[in-house]
Amino acid sequence: MPAWSFPASTTPARPARSRAADRTWARMSITAWIGPPVRALFPRYFQTKRLPPRHEPNGHKHPMKTKIVNLLMLGLLVTFHAADAAADNVRAWAKAPVVPNKVKDACEPVRYAGQRLDPASYLGRRVDINFRAGLLKTFDVGAYLDSYGKNPKWPTGEYLGKIMQGLSRMYLYSGDRAVLARLERIVAEWRRLQDDTGWLGTTARFKSWDIWEHKYVLLGLVDYYALTGDEKALSAARKIGDLYCATIGPGLGDINQSGHWALGSASILEPMTYLYRYTGDPKYLRFCEYIVGSFESPTGPKLISTLTTGSKRVCDIEDTFAMRAAREVNFKGNGQVRNRSKGYEMLSCLIGLLRMYQLTGKPEYLEVAVNAWQDIANKRLYLAGSSGVDECFKDDHCLPAEASDGPAEGCVTAHWIFLSRVLFEVTGQPRYIETLENALYNYLLASQRPQDCFQSYNTGMNGAKTFQKHDVRGAVGKAPCCLTSVMREIARTPEAVWTRFAGGGLGVLLYTAGSMEETIQTRSGPLAVRLEMATDFPQSGNVTLRVRPQKPAHFRLALRVLAWAKHFTAEVAGQKHAGTPGQFLNLEREWKDGDAVTITMDLNERLAPGGASYPGHFALLRGPQVLTLVAGKGGEGKLAAARVKANVLPQLSTAANFLPSGWIGGQAYASTALAGADGCALIPFGDSSQAGVSKECRTWIRLEPGSGGSVPEAPSELKATALAGNRVQLSWKGARRNADGWRIERKRTDVGLWFHVKTTAPEVTSCVDDYVNVVTPGKTYTYRVAAFNAGGLSDYSNEATVTTPDVAVPTAPTNLKVTAISPTHLKLTWTDTSDTEDGFKLECKAGPAAEWKPVQGRTAANWTTFTDYGLEAGQTYAYRVRAFNTAGESEWSNEASISTLQSK
Ligand SMILES: [Zn+2]
Repeated sequence: MPAWSFPASTTPARPARSRAADRTWARMSITAWIGPPVRALFPRYFQTKRLPPRHEPNGHKHPMKTKIVNLLMLGLLVTFHAADAAADNVRAWAKAPVVPNKVKDACEPVRYAGQRLDPASYLGRRVDINFRAGLLKTFDVGAYLDSYGKNPKWPTGEYLGKIMQGLSRMYLYSGDRAVLARLERIVAEWRRLQDDTGWLGTTARFKSWDIWEHKYVLLGLVDYYALTGDEKALSAARKIGDLYCATIGPGLGDINQSGHWALGSASILEPMTYLYRYTGDPKYLRFCEYIVGSFESPTGPKLISTLTTGSKRVCDIEDTFAMRAAREVNFKGNGQVRNRSKGYEMLSCLIGLLRMYQLTGKPEYLEVAVNAWQDIANKRLYLAGSSGVDECFKDDHCLPAEASDGPAEGCVTAHWIFLSRVLFEVTGQPRYIETLENALYNYLLASQRPQDCFQSYNTGMNGAKTFQKHDVRGAVGKAPCCLTSVMREIARTPEAVWTRFAGGGLGVLLYTAGSMEETIQTRSGPLAVRLEMATDFPQSGNVTLRVRPQKPAHFRLALRVLAWAKHFTAEVAGQKHAGTPGQFLNLEREWKDGDAVTITMDLNERLAPGGASYPGHFALLRGPQVLTLVAGKGGEGKLAAARVKANVLPQLSTAANFLPSGWIGGQAYASTALAGADGCALIPFGDSSQAGVSKECRTWIRLEPGSGGSVPEAPSELKATALAGNRVQLSWKGARRNADGWRIERKRTDVGLWFHVKTTAPEVTSCVDDYVNVVTPGKTYTYRVAAFNAGGLSDYSNEATVTTPDVAVPTAPTNLKVTAISPTHLKLTWTDTSDTEDGFKLECKAGPAAEWKPVQGRTAANWTTFTDYGLEAGQTYAYRVRAFNTAGESEWSNEASISTLQSK
């Protein structure tokens, strides 16, 4: 019996599946598709009786009370099965927002409770593992709750909030009551910990990570309210919102000066839009409008103007943390600022702006997000679908991908997917699902080790990965940010498989075995439809879609045509329809129960050139999967010797018996385009997070000499001149013929390593090195340039050296004044007397006998205000300020003091 069988298509009514049949089905599918080694790895997982979602003909959004009454009545009849039924029936969001969006979603995900991803399919397996081994096991809710307040180094609420959003969706998906119990526990503990002012943080108030952390606490609380309708959770969320409204805003504290980086604090926008939509309280909308305005305030990151009227490059958005003093202090020693253009924080703000677009209808907010997406997709996206180095966006086409480069933070990958998904839901354009698919299959899955759901923080496309659990009690390991971002995002995969169009009809976005049930609008009224997808994609490109409307009806079924597929056809009732890559193939017809759509696509096994960062290297792709080379037995040490032949069609054949026992996934290939790779095989990059073959992988493989065209000629006459503002003008001469562009490298002479800092187009033979103001005064830098194409890098030009001019120590600020704003915060203003400062340092003295202590928080050049938060009521504070730059610090300003207001 096939594991997936369809009832006869002539069945007039929708077939009811019995629970017993479901159990049989679950057992059958596990037995049929998952081998003994995997079962041995996850004994507990496979003992769990996981049932597919129940058939719910009338679909979704029953009011909670009705359900409870129904359950009670049912309980009288069938006492024994009532609890079981409860788990299945209450699986819908209990609360919808009370404020409608001005711009409605063009597409909405289908409800979780009606969905089932086959646990033996490629995506379904990883979703289930992420749920059982990750959300329920590796992430220890108790440990994070225990650490609350005791381990202020970690903003614990961030991790719990993200995990709550993953758990709530997996509850809807699975109906597992243990998941709900976990959520209840977090909310109960948070309500106990929240103080009278509404504060529920672990770090210093309004300094450090405080606002950022509350962002996730708010997300978790509002999400829980939407799931359960528990008014106490909403009330706890309101208290946080009220505290922020009373502390930050016009005439109050400046969000950009609230301790953490401006983009980090301002990303509270997203949950505040939800708080407004679920409460209808206009003060939360006013707060959101203040946050949006703060992006362009004198202290703000200029997020909107840079991405609409400015350069439209995300790497030009400078966060306030980017003090020049910090610029030489990053851990790579390459002179680049670590915390300029932070990816995770910026993507979070863009998601908040999209929510504001939907609330207000202001098109410029959509434009900001679309332009950012476009810039990342075109100029700074790794082949495997993520972005950023050292957590930050880099210059155009600079995509170093060695593990030691620190590429693709897990949080950036997850939020890039999140942004893509929201853009799709808002616009309905399939191109956003293309970037989502690429990131999901490749970087997202590659960053989580499926054996235990430990997380890699930065993930190299070449080299070894390091996986960590993060023990919050012992503070062992780092980056629980990535652990929780990635777990949440994998849990949301079902939102991207199918879609419901606002204008009616259903869409298939990702191809994976499973089913969904949803009620859609048709010309003849609401209609329950079940779709069943049978496929072994991405192993093959053959998909059978079974359409099962409750009764025959006319509606649109849209299939996303994968942008990389050369051939895509869908056959319905003997008629073939060809798809256009990157578009929807719309099948609009009268559907009746059991209609089958047979989809055939080629996986287009192909080579991708390495661009400016890997000229003379290629990667292999198959369908949505980037492949990476790993060494098995006998292949140790061979990865570096492997070569790719660019003049050969890269036909793949299965490398039988390559994968060791315990391996999760079954794909391993040899290729006609590979040479010198004995003992090695290509596997999906998304599977490369497993041990069992060599820990190293190699995605960018060197070209076999003579197989890929000739390298361009070397450029010459490179000149470098120091400009004002610590920038360097570069120009060179070279033949454009045969060149894809120019690669500029810089070395700080005392560090000695060359870094790829810029790439220009073939026609551009001059540029300014101003990226992140890398050039520190009084330092000597050496430049060189080379042409590149897919065949490789030319010889280098001459080297040109420049020493940047020294700057003077700044003059002292004057006229320092301090004003009391509230019992807990004060505002400082001063006059900036220098043109050369990088920022200001403030000191504070609490009470007359106290010592001067540095004020926490950050400043930037030309700032003349600062808000100090988290003070005591009725206490006298004295302040002084001085300017600094790389040459030194100015004298102190005058001292100014005042008392905070008494508490009411
Ligand atoms: Zn992270």
